Amino acid sequence: MYSMQKILLSAELHEIHGIGPRFVMKLKKLGIITVKDLIWHFPTRYEDWRETSSIENLEAGDSKTIKGVISEIESRRSWKRRMTIVEATITDETGSIKAVWFNQPYVKNILHEGVMASFAGKVMEDKKGKNGFYLSNPTYEVLSDTDLNEKTKTKHTGRLVPIYPETKGLTSKGIRMLSQKILDNIEPIKEFLPQEILKYHNFPEINVAIKNIHFPDNLNDVELAKERFAFEELFLIQLNNLYQKFSLSKENAPVMRSAEKIISDTSKNLPFELTQSQKEALGEILADIKKSEPMNRLLQGDVGSGKTIVAGLVALVAAHNGYQSAIMAPTEILARQHYRTLTSLFHDFADGIGLLVSKEARVSYGEDLETDIKKPALLKKVSEEEIKILVGTHALIEKGVIFKNLGLVVVDEQHRFGVKQRAALSGHVGLVPHFLSMSATPIPRTIMMTMFGDLNLSIISELPKGRKEIITKIVDQENRDKAYAFIRGQVRRGRQVFVVCPRIESSVTNPVSYNLDSDWEQLEIKSVKEEYEKLAKIIFPDLKVAMLHGKMKSDEKAKTMSDFAGGKIDVLVSTSVIEVGVDVPNASIMMIEGSERFGLAQLYQFRGRVGRGQYQSFCFLFTESSSMNTRDRLNSLITAKNGLELAEKDLKFRGPGEFMGREQTGMPDVAMRALQRPELVKTSRDSAELIAKQGWEMENYPNLYEKFREFRKEIHLE
Ligand code: ADP
Ligand code: MG
Repeated sequence: MYSMQKILLSAELHEIHGIGPRFVMKLKKLGIITVKDLIWHFPTRYEDWRETSSIENLEAGDSKTIKGVISEIESRRSWKRRMTIVEATITDETGSIKAVWFNQPYVKNILHEGVMASFAGKVMEDKKGKNGFYLSNPTYEVLSDTDLNEKTKTKHTGRLVPIYPETKGLTSKGIRMLSQKILDNIEPIKEFLPQEILKYHNFPEINVAIKNIHFPDNLNDVELAKERFAFEELFLIQLNNLYQKFSLSKENAPVMRSAEKIISDTSKNLPFELTQSQKEALGEILADIKKSEPMNRLLQGDVGSGKTIVAGLVALVAAHNGYQSAIMAPTEILARQHYRTLTSLFHDFADGIGLLVSKEARVSYGEDLETDIKKPALLKKVSEEEIKILVGTHALIEKGVIFKNLGLVVVDEQHRFGVKQRAALSGHVGLVPHFLSMSATPIPRTIMMTMFGDLNLSIISELPKGRKEIITKIVDQENRDKAYAFIRGQVRRGRQVFVVCPRIESSVTNPVSYNLDSDWEQLEIKSVKEEYEKLAKIIFPDLKVAMLHGKMKSDEKAKTMSDFAGGKIDVLVSTSVIEVGVDVPNASIMMIEGSERFGLAQLYQFRGRVGRGQYQSFCFLFTESSSMNTRDRLNSLITAKNGLELAEKDLKFRGPGEFMGREQTGMPDVAMRALQRPELVKTSRDSAELIAKQGWEMENYPNLYEKFREFRKEIHLE
């Protein structure tokens, strides 16, 4: 089947003799194409069939491996149970026992009378019948003569047996057969982790780790191997963070002197006083842009904590230093909102604030001097520095937008801003603009330290004074009508309502795979369309109800959103698409259907869309689940002090997938799970620092150097 030549890691499975094309196809469905993919397809768990026994010593309830000869085998059809049943008698020198396989007719083609095999299964007792003990659905493994003489390795019995994530028609057994053959014949894998790191952490060398994760002798070896694989991924990420920082530090950015007078004069004219934490964040940012090293900072603060004004003030300082700023928002609605905020708060600013979205351009030189202009005219002003602050969407990084003197880039509500996009925004020859990203999404510490480890962090930890706490209630089925009546009352007083539903179309299956409460599966998902129909026709026929979801055209969405912002809609039924930053101070109710389906951090974000004005606001969490688990989880939304606390809880309960889709990061599961372990995150960082200190040529670590370059290539593909 396999030649004597060692199998290369990079070989594709179809190139290897003896693997059928159908098997190759099925593996491909799991994303397994190369030998390396297969080897890195780790088991999710192990079945323990290490204990062996003679047949005579078996007892009911045992899970053991036995060896014996098939002395009898037959299959029959059970009409009552609509399946084929294969029954065999296995005999060794001490006695015999029956084995029964349900719905596996092919067993009879493999196990003939006289065949010697190893069987692993649970011993059952047939209390009613006359069978006595029998093995139920045992795993079997035919042993050849040589197996009997020597102690050869078994794959499926008599050991810790790996169970792999499976796909239809592809069993763990199949994967196991292949992976063992390949592991026996594979070229040695290069160890890239430095020896001192392996030693320090007591990690197994890579070839040992691979062997132990697939075919371990004991569970402790599995743990050590997993630990190693988790560590190495985090280590590479940390190394990359340090490298990013290092490369950025070699670039030059415009040095911007602080402009205390500008800040204090402008602050005096604001309709509010900055909170202590806004002032601190501003201070940290201003200290950064004083340096010639480009700033790379994330400004994090709950919805409504006032990040926009902080960014705006930084842009003013940049303008005062003779530099332009670009402020980019993820949607047109938000871009317009920022533009409006800045023009109204900085009504004395006469150096030009511009707005650029796909179809519209505006410019303002002070509050009374606002005009609609044509896009080319705006672009000309940008290129001639007649606009100092340009607000917009992704339109800002399109071709044709050329800044004369760009010194600051602010990106709102977008966690990762690609390297390419960033390059597209570089404005001034030779200088890299300072970069500030803003986010309302609370990010757990471990994820912050890894996935965002190249950013410095400023946090706005308090909301402006005078904000009323949002009253949050869990609403059961029985109280639905009461809640509707309450909502009607609020609308009568002029308020508006958000209704969030988990999915667009109705369905009885749960698209989400997390399994916190098993009763989730059964609950029907409230669909936006259905809910919209119901609210518009039956519950609130007298109110203006509208619908918003991701499958609508973007101008339809924009129109609906601006109608809502303008008070033309009372009740807006939507999926989770409604933008995080949308500011509709008149909306006072956030009602969430199927709330148990959302992560806590997400629910927190939804809630943050109300309570932005002077009105007492409410958040109703509708749920049809009565499980205590769900209750507890939803309750933490009432008790938690802040978003970060909820994010940490989500991380614990639902895992890192809640924050970053797995596909997005391409991280293996072991590493994803490692994000739940602060100590591993910390040691990976310490180790990365140790290596980075010795220089990026990595003269002493050629394998690491090569691996790191590969790693960087992979992550830049996104
Ligand atoms: P976010 O941090 O969610 O982006 P915004 O910047 O949109 O928040 O601010 C929310 C609202 O709070 C805006 O209307 C803004 O003008 C107002 N605001 C900002 N800072 C303060 C403050 N210190 N005191 C009172 N209101 C403030
Ligand atoms: Mg915002």
